[in-house]
Formats: sequence, C-alpha cells, structure tokens
Amino acid sequence: MYPAKFKKVNDEEVLVKWSDGEEFIVPSKYLRDRCPCASCAGESVLWHEYKPDPLPVLTPGKYNLKSAEVIGDYALGLTWLDGHNTGLYSFDYLRRLCEEYKRSGVAAGAQKKNRQED
Ligand SMILES: [Zn+2]
Repeated sequence: MYPAKFKKVNDEEVLVKWSDGEEFIVPSKYLRDRCPCASCAGESVLWHEYKPDPLPVLTPGKYNLKSAEVIGDYALGLTWLDGHNTGLYSFDYLRRLCEEYKRSGVAAGAQKKNRQED
C-alpha cells in the first residue's frame, strides 16, 4: 500500500489517494500535530515547563505544507513552510492517520457518506 497521490487541496487540507483507491481529505494540521520525528514526538516532554497554557504557540507556516517527497519505498517526507522537514511519515503511519481522522467523524459533514466494508 502506498499513496498514489498526495497533494494540497488548499492551505489547510491535503488529499491522499491510496493504491487501493481509497481517498482521504485530511487537514495538514492533523498531520503536523502528529509529526513522528524525534523533536516533535519529544516536544511535550522537552517543552513541558514552557507549556502552562494549553494553547500552542502558533509558528507562521507551521501548518502549511510546502512539499512532500517519497523517501525510499516506505515513507513520505513532509516539508512545512516553517522549515520543518524531519518528519518521515511511513506509509503505514500515514494511512493510519487518514483512517483515524475519517473515523473521528470530524470530516463526516464534509465528505460523502462512505460506508466501509471489512
Ligand atoms: Zn517533527
């Protein structure tokens, strides 16, 4: 399974189409907030004492995807407008995020009802 298509729909959403034909629209913010790189994954620990406020500091461009590049045969490397480019989203991980987002129901109103068969 691999993303046959990965492209920005607008500044806030990306379209991911998979080799099995499944298509997802996912907010880029959703992907960035789940960036698997070491610095992001460790952020909550590293910056814990600087985060008394639940509202994250918004870096300009943080949630704006600049480009995506396939790394090897297993992952997508995302580059963001704030310069962050160390996040490698393995295809498995990316697919899981797509499905999690879809299941979360946030997108239910925006997307056609698409009942999945197992
Ligand atoms: Zn990261």
